[in-house]
Amino acid sequence: MIAHARQDAPDECCGVVLARDGAAVEVRAYENVYHSPLKFGIDGLALLKLNDEIDEKGLDIGAIYHSHTRTPPYPSQTDINFAAGWPGVEWIIVGLDRAGEATVRTYLIEDAHVREL
Ligand SMILES: [Zn+2]
Repeated sequence: MIAHARQDAPDECCGVVLARDGAAVEVRAYENVYHSPLKFGIDGLALLKLNDEIDEKGLDIGAIYHSHTRTPPYPSQTDINFAAGWPGVEWIIVGLDRAGEATVRTYLIEDAHVREL
């Protein structure tokens, strides 16, 4: 996740952590369709394919990750709004400072309430 964040900087990167029974089994990088340093998005068709795949394999989306390249690794209002569509999914944010040093934080965002894990 940190390597992906550095590779896509200054744009935000994004991806998911697939889980089985609450344990992470795979990190999957996705293209940020916005190619933006201010927001991220995953292609809708890619998400549909992912949904089919995790259903078939008995997996869950354990976490969604993305990077912040200009602000601290704390959920933005955009993130909080986005999280409303993904209940129970952890949010991992990789913050990169100007030197490329990473700070990684994980949150649960429920009913617009942010709790760091
Ligand atoms: Zn964000």
